[in-house]
Amino acid sequence: MLKVKNLYYRIGNFTLKNISFSLERGEYGVILGPSGSGKTTLFELIAGFRTPLRGKIYLEGKDITDLPPEERDISVLYQDYLLFPHLNVFENIAFGLRKRLKDPKEVEKRVLFLVEELGIRHLLGRDIKSLSGGERQRVALARALAVKPKLLLLDEPFSALDPQNRERLRRFVKDITTRWGITTLHISHDVADAENLADKVILIRDGEIREWGSFERVFFTPKDPFAVEFLEVNFLDGVVVDLSPNFAVVEVCGNPLKVSNAVSSISKGDRVRVYFRPEVVRLGGENNLPCSVEEFFRDRFFVKALLNCCGREVKAYFPFEFEKKLSRKGEIAISVPPEFLFVRPL
Ligand code: ADP
Ligand code: MG
Repeated sequence: MLKVKNLYYRIGNFTLKNISFSLERGEYGVILGPSGSGKTTLFELIAGFRTPLRGKIYLEGKDITDLPPEERDISVLYQDYLLFPHLNVFENIAFGLRKRLKDPKEVEKRVLFLVEELGIRHLLGRDIKSLSGGERQRVALARALAVKPKLLLLDEPFSALDPQNRERLRRFVKDITTRWGITTLHISHDVADAENLADKVILIRDGEIREWGSFERVFFTPKDPFAVEFLEVNFLDGVVVDLSPNFAVVEVCGNPLKVSNAVSSISKGDRVRVYFRPEVVRLGGENNLPCSVEEFFRDRFFVKALLNCCGREVKAYFPFEFEKKLSRKGEIAISVPPEFLFVRPL
């Protein structure tokens, strides 16, 4: 378990303020934020390359705030592999192990186990220079995992890869960390990394955590206005007109919307904000809302539409065959299933 408490740090004019979050054992956390938000600085504090001015870092209950990097039981992986170019794949993976395991046979056994598990046995005798970017990153991951760290810490590990390799390595990292139950903290500016990998999301901007929690909580019901915008969550305002233990009905500009994720803190007559993700918007059906189409464009096999619903911009991602049903400035009725609508008091 990783626990970061009230970290405070200054570098030049930049300040990291009151950084607090935690990960459970075996969880995959993604620290997400735009470039310049302080992600790498936070990474270096957790890895131990910098010391915070205030605050504490605990790993499995132990205070590691003032420990040097090599005593933290944390393995790191960067965007640019940092493998030793003069050593082959085997020696790169064995490097950290040689200090820990005295018996060369034990080292060899562990390396063979790793390459087998990571599906890179065929690379063993290769020169680092002869490897592709994706292969290098697999070797770097094997080296990071070889010492059985308590925490795997990744800083933009896929940024240098082309989209295909990025997707492949994403699956690869998720698979191995899940199977081995490794607590992982992954730093990225790419929302897709959080969407594809995260159990927990920590959203950072200008040196401050704006929102953090489970993947579902942060992506579907963010509270912070920046999080709502950055994660492209739609919201509309309305009034609660009916409330029962299992659902609420919220009237949004004259249209009753049934919401099954009603929070306990709302009452009939309250003004509330209704949230929903672009991916859950449907065309037609129950629980509908008339909107006008402002714009739409194809993005791979989706049609992304910008709609105007009750004067508010709403994004909707439809399956691409729906393209024919859309026309610029045309009217459509969208619907969102009650289980994908969330409310919060205004
Ligand atoms: P991210 O990884 O999210 O892109 P960084 O943690 O690298 O962001 O940087 C956060 C901020 O700190 C940036 O505004 C950057 O310019 C500033 N910064 C980083 N390193 C230094 C430094 N050595 N001196 C002054 N400012 C720095
Ligand atoms: Mg960075």
